[in-house]
Amino acid sequence: MTNFNVQNNDLHVFESLESEVRSYCRSFPTKFQKASGYQLWDANGRCYTDFFAGAGALNYGHNEPRMKEQLLQYLTGDGVTHSLDMATEAKEKFLSAFHDIILKPRKLKYKVMFPGPTGTNSVESALKLARKITGRETIMSFTNAFHGMTLGALAVTGNKFKRNGAGVPLNHTVSMPYDGYMGKDIDSLQFIENYLQDSGSGMSLPAAVIVETIQGEGGINVASTEWLQGLERLCRSYGMLLIVDDVQMGCGRTGTFFSFERSGIEPDIVCMSKSISGYGLPMAITLLKPELDEWTPGEHNGTFRGNNLAFITATEALQYWKTDKFSTEIAVKAEKVAQALARLVKKYPELKGEYRGLGLMQGIALEPGIADQLSKLAFERGLIMETSGTDSEVIKIMPPLTIDISALEAGLQILDECMQEVLVEANNEAQVVNS
Ligand SMILES: *Cc1c(COP(=O)(O)O)cnc(C)c1O
Repeated sequence: MTNFNVQNNDLHVFESLESEVRSYCRSFPTKFQKASGYQLWDANGRCYTDFFAGAGALNYGHNEPRMKEQLLQYLTGDGVTHSLDMATEAKEKFLSAFHDIILKPRKLKYKVMFPGPTGTNSVESALKLARKITGRETIMSFTNAFHGMTLGALAVTGNKFKRNGAGVPLNHTVSMPYDGYMGKDIDSLQFIENYLQDSGSGMSLPAAVIVETIQGEGGINVASTEWLQGLERLCRSYGMLLIVDDVQMGCGRTGTFFSFERSGIEPDIVCMSKSISGYGLPMAITLLKPELDEWTPGEHNGTFRGNNLAFITATEALQYWKTDKFSTEIAVKAEKVAQALARLVKKYPELKGEYRGLGLMQGIALEPGIADQLSKLAFERGLIMETSGTDSEVIKIMPPLTIDISALEAGLQILDECMQEVLVEANNEAQVVNS
């Protein structure tokens, strides 16, 4: 039997013992050991700046000190860790803080449901409830949408590669063009309404529409406020529930706590996970308008709906939202990134970049292969930066919201150097071909 005696950045344990399904560890091939704020250190002591933030699960950075302190106190005091969905003090504090700090000032009335601890669990609960309430089967989703990996959520996800993994038909859904999908000058809502209106369209009336206000995984596609408002009107006209999947764009990623605040829409159901616990601990919530709470006790159950450690850090995370200060800081950083990316698009016209984004979810769409190359070069320079889009065509800037301006600027400088290097490499290859 092989003895797995591992040193430093040797990855052979993962390569031989872990499934081929491994993904991010291939893009960032080192062994991470420590993390704090916007930084990570590997087993060789090498420091990395994190422009990926756990795909949006680390909006407040790694091991945020106040959350860590609360967590340590709770652990030391033998606070309950697992409790199914029994009433605990930790959950009570979270529910009260969520009501007082988030819902009340925004005049939003939602009941909080705890599905299983992941984003896809929240999406499944939303789809199930919408079908139960309306008695309709179909859910309308959008091109390039991403909602998770379980069958229900996969059925409303656009990506062909991910869908093919299902192995069974993904049905009872209809995919419609997202804002801008049919070209800048075509209003996709008009197209959708034609389908809803026309008794010959072949589409049964959907129970609900599920939408991301910005498609993160799908390529950083931003829906306009008019489009979101129009979509809400369509939902009201045709008795469809409006579900906003705020799993990635919520908790401040776009600058406000909920991503839909900029449009003034009021979804019937909101899915949240990723940064809701604030500390990277698994937790999800599904918000429901009170009149939609037609669940009967235990109808949607699950073992891990009471992660009290996550409730403790989540409650602390909400303290960031007590004033406007955090939102204002995010807006300042977002503006810095927007200016830097616009400058890079101009500086390297050969790369034919197209700027995209909002808040601290921004990026540049590039020709096939370039974004992957940039991510690789950035990693070599100590910057963790992912791609997004069906063909990984977008380089994505998604740091913790708490990152320092100077670290943000340093990271963007690295991106600049990488873009330059991509051009140099392309020119060298062209010379080899020509010689
Ligand atoms: C990440 C994500 C999900 C799925 O969350 P998991 O915790 O990975 O199941 C769903 N919707 C959106 C928009 C996401 O970004």
